[in-house]
Amino acid sequence: MIIKQAELETVCGITSKLPENAFPEVAFAGKSNVGKSSLINGLLNRKSLARTSSQPGKTQTINFYKVNGDLYLVDLPGYGYAKVSNEIKAKWGRMIENYLHGSKQLKAVFLLVDIRHEPSANDKDMYQWIVAQGYEPVIIATKLDKIKRSQVQKQIKILKEGLKLLPGTQLIPFSAETKQGRDEIWDVICSFVEE
Ligand code: GDP
Repeated sequence: MIIKQAELETVCGITSKLPENAFPEVAFAGKSNVGKSSLINGLLNRKSLARTSSQPGKTQTINFYKVNGDLYLVDLPGYGYAKVSNEIKAKWGRMIENYLHGSKQLKAVFLLVDIRHEPSANDKDMYQWIVAQGYEPVIIATKLDKIKRSQVQKQIKILKEGLKLLPGTQLIPFSAETKQGRDEIWDVICSFVEE
């Protein structure tokens, strides 16, 4: 994918009304620190358009990145902050639910999980939840460069079993360091958008 233009167009906080965009959207979910900003920057060939930071408590928003004038990458708030109150978690849950439920342009949902670890309870809940909203999430296993090549298949199996992936679910390993997986993710995005 050749990126001619990429910009952060809309930022939604808890009380914001979600935009009614005229172009297709694909959304990215995952726990904080999983590498979501790094993935979005990698997809867009930018170093720091999406903020990469491991600070817990960084502002939680839904960010809409417009790409080449006719597509949106939607960065959903990272989940799993231990320090956030249940009340705030519930509010964010409702906002993500509103978005997944309400967007007329959402074509695909990507769920990011760290390739090194067994999926957390939050990852499992999020997967089930996305499925319950009627989407078949594509799994992106992040930080591929952090494990040995000989470990990859074993970790993929752990993720598939841990998340109880439905048969046929796509899982794409990705590294923000080497960009391995980038072209495959763009192919999947394009296949959903063109449908
Ligand atoms: P986010 O909270 O999900 O947006 O995660 P970030 O993109 O901010 O990444 C969290 C940390 O993991 C940062 O220190 C990144 O540099 C690092 N990171 C993210 N993706 C990769 C990757 O593919 N490989 C390596 N080695 N580090 C990564």
